[in-house]
Amino acid sequence: MRYEGMIFRPPSEANSLILQVTVGCSYNRCTFCGAYREKSFRAKSFDEVKSDIDEVSSYGIRIPRVFLADGDALILPQKELVQILDYLNLKLNGLERIGTYANARDILKKEREELQNLKELGLAIIYWAWNRGTLRY
Ligand code: SF4
Repeated sequence: MRYEGMIFRPPSEANSLILQVTVGCSYNRCTFCGAYREKSFRAKSFDEVKSDIDEVSSYGIRIPRVFLADGDALILPQKELVQILDYLNLKLNGLERIGTYANARDILKKEREELQNLKELGLAIIYWAWNRGTLRY
């Protein structure tokens, strides 16, 4: 697994595989949050993400939970998120739940049908901008 910089995850994702699909936060201006100040936001390429999934998959262990890092992976275009979730479902043994951080802007950019599609692919929990809320949909 190739992580860039400090990785943060919610306490309830302590036993999850942390899969870094973006680096930093696309907004990065909340006055109360300095988590990603040192990082310039970028989306990892699918090849980078695929390589990490392939590595974990090669261990042959059961991985029920995955958390998509960094600060707001939901900012990724729908097509890219679907590609990642499809590949996780294909490769990981026993996958039950995928989670991610997001902010209100990311959520509002998605159509209802897009969020529904992500849910059907296993994205079952969104941690909404740190301690401001959790969305189960
Ligand atoms: S609280 Fe969330 S949206 Fe705001 S800067 Fe931190 S990671 Fe980004």
